[in-house]
Amino acid sequence: MNILVSACLLGLACRYDGSAKEYPAVLALAENHTLIPFCPEIYGGLSTPREPCEIIHGCVRSQSGVDVTPQFEKGAQEALRLATALQCKCALLQDRSPSCGVGIIHDGTFTGGLVQGDGLTARLLMENNLRVLPATRAAELAQCQCPSNCRHHGDCIACREHHRDGTPSYCQR
Ligand code: SF4
Repeated sequence: MNILVSACLLGLACRYDGSAKEYPAVLALAENHTLIPFCPEIYGGLSTPREPCEIIHGCVRSQSGVDVTPQFEKGAQEALRLATALQCKCALLQDRSPSCGVGIIHDGTFTGGLVQGDGLTARLLMENNLRVLPATRAAELAQCQCPSNCRHHGDCIACREHHRDGTPSYCQR
């Protein structure tokens, strides 16, 4: 299965401070899946290093107050373009980021506080029916999750969708 992955999780130094956030459980998925690295903030036109940014009242602002919402929106659109072109069923994204965060993001105060919410890229991918998981849930993709244990790793997400629909699934193969 093709999985869109936050590039920093694979060890690429694209974070705001020029660092990476290598995540061994994500790298391990390369054994059974095709991992496609992507950094929406770079593809949105921002440089590395860059100011830290957080979502404040629906807009993304840098720590000095610059509105960078257009760059974050462009990065999200480019992520969706790539995921669609390569038929990714799933995205695995870095926690808490205003682009990639899934379920929990920084609260806009630049003090380390957290709130419930999604980054702009995560939200757009979810709105377009990708299964979007935070890196902390990478292990869920490490093996087939199919209830029939079909071992078709590449299709296991699709299997689960078909099972929920009650229609024939890849598991019958
Ligand atoms: S935008 Fe996403 S991929 Fe890029 S550095 Fe931030 S968390 Fe990593």
